[in-house]
Amino acid sequence: MSFSELGIGSPMLDTLVAAGYTEPTAVQKAAIPAALAGADLLVSSHTGSGKTAAFMLPSLQRLAGTPGRAGRGPRVLVLAPTRELAMQVNKAALSYGQGLRRLHTLTLVGGTPYGQQIRMLERPVDVVVATPGRLLDHMSSGRVDFSRLETLVLDEADRMLDMGFLADIEAIVAQTPADRQTLMFSATLDGVVGQLARRLTRDPRRIDIAATPTRGADIEQILLFADDMAHKTRLLDALLRDAEMQQCVVFAATKRSTEELCGLLADSGFSVAALHGDMQQGQRTRTLQRLRDGHTQVLVATDVAARGIDVAGISHVINFDAPRQAEDYVHRIGRTGRAGRSGVAVTLMGHHERHRVLDIERYTGQPIRVDVIPGLEPVRRAPRPAAKPGYRGRPSAAAGGRGRPGAGGRGGHGGHGGAQRRNTGW
Ligand code: AMP
Repeated sequence: MSFSELGIGSPMLDTLVAAGYTEPTAVQKAAIPAALAGADLLVSSHTGSGKTAAFMLPSLQRLAGTPGRAGRGPRVLVLAPTRELAMQVNKAALSYGQGLRRLHTLTLVGGTPYGQQIRMLERPVDVVVATPGRLLDHMSSGRVDFSRLETLVLDEADRMLDMGFLADIEAIVAQTPADRQTLMFSATLDGVVGQLARRLTRDPRRIDIAATPTRGADIEQILLFADDMAHKTRLLDALLRDAEMQQCVVFAATKRSTEELCGLLADSGFSVAALHGDMQQGQRTRTLQRLRDGHTQVLVATDVAARGIDVAGISHVINFDAPRQAEDYVHRIGRTGRAGRSGVAVTLMGHHERHRVLDIERYTGQPIRVDVIPGLEPVRRAPRPAAKPGYRGRPSAAAGGRGRPGAGGRGGHGGHGGAQRRNTGW
């Protein structure tokens, strides 16, 4: 099935062909015709599924095909949880809409000066991509005109609720026209997200794209057990020195550990940068640009900061601190294996955390291979617990398995000289 069969016409079709999008993804096949027909949508899908194009293409197509009501406010509003994701979505809008005449888009995110955003809001705009807090600030000063709004998109709605944006979202939506189209995208549509969906949508079509976001993407998933923090740090050093490593995102649990790990890796001679929520927007944008330009080899990031990062050169993701939730794991590993390339995702875990592996495997339906780096094997054996009911996948190798984890420990994985992290053990 082609984009044209889904109802996408010129000029977006030519842009997609030029970008090499030969075939729509599953979520695009299901969502685009329904959105073009004007239906409200509840879509469970993940990063990497092609969800941005699934809502942006039909929204742009409708913009191009109809003149819209009088006024200068946005005709399409996208709410996103983080600044990075909002900027990514805006970039996608500009990219997919590059053939449209006079398409005006605007990103309204926190951490950036108000002045320019205020000036931009005085001019006509077609698409606004915003994080809820900053949009609400502008709305309370009467700067946003929603009288023309036709389509409201909630991207990663579950994450917005996790981040405490429920009241903001409701306040924003209350000021949008009742006859708008609402497209809601979320990894899950259960619980509070489902309740919000029922309040915001009218007779929605539900689209469930199986919770296997990494299917299709060629990502090798590996688990390395570590005896203690010092061992974990040596494993990280070995992985980063592997010849196949191009660029890597290393995930840490907190802003503080992100900074600490970044300092440690810099001391060990890596070209490394940190990315977390306490950084000013300008600094975050520059950090990401340096990663994109290939100046930074290793980005140490928190979960929230790394959402939406789409850099084709990221060959590896390393979970230095294991993700808290299976869903975070999926978002993390989705930073690699992008733009049709393959990727490697390595999770470092203490033996006491091994129950988390089964949760992740059950969620993704995919096995994670337990492996070792020769010379850096864990001293303690880590037998796998019996699979809990509901789990279907099986790992391909047992703990202490064979082979190399896509990383050879070449180039001296004997630690970081004096620069080792606290040897706290567990
Ligand atoms: P998303 O899930 O929106 O973050 O998209 C994941 C990645 O897939 C992005 O790099 C998109 O540019 C790319 N992409 C989206 N749709 C297609 C498609 N139909 N064919 C090829 N690549 C796509």
